[in-house]
Amino acid sequence: MKCPRTGTALKPLRIGGVEVDVSEHCAGVWFDRFELDKFKTPNDAMGEALAQHLSQFNSPLLDLSARLRCPRHPETMMMRRFFGQARKVEIDECPECGGIWLDAEELQLIRELVGQNGPVGAPVVPSGTHVDVIDDALRRDLDRIANALGAASHAAG
Ligand SMILES: [Zn+2]
Repeated sequence: MKCPRTGTALKPLRIGGVEVDVSEHCAGVWFDRFELDKFKTPNDAMGEALAQHLSQFNSPLLDLSARLRCPRHPETMMMRRFFGQARKVEIDECPECGGIWLDAEELQLIRELVGQNGPVGAPVVPSGTHVDVIDDALRRDLDRIANALGAASHAAG
C-alpha cells in the first residue's frame, strides 16, 4: 500500500498482534477498520508504543486540507470527519472499507482526547462486554450523518 499523503510505500508494523501501516515519510499511520480502537486509550501500552514509533519520523510541511484517497481503494476518496464529539481532531475515513488514516500527531491528540473523557486509571469495561464498541459505532454513524448533512447544505449554498 502507498501512503495517501506522500505516495511512498507504507511499512507494516505489528504491535500486540495488530498490524498497522506506517508512513516513514510523513509519520502518518493507516488503521484497518476497528484497529484504531486498540490504540486510542491513553493508558494503553499498544498506543504508547505506536505513538513512540511514529515520533521518530519527521512530518514534512504538507497541505493537510488536501483530500486523500484510501490506500486500499485508490479509486475512493476518503471522508474527513471529526474524531468523537470534541471536534478537535479531523481524521480521514474510507467509506468503502472503514479504514482510518491519521496524520502525524493525530494519534497522540486522540489519545489525549479519550483521556479527557474519564480519569486515567478508571476501571475499563470488562472484556466480553461490547458497550464501548456499540457506543463507538453509533457515534461514528452520527458523525457520518452530520458530515453528510454539512456537505449537502454546503453544496446547496
Ligand atoms: Zn478503503
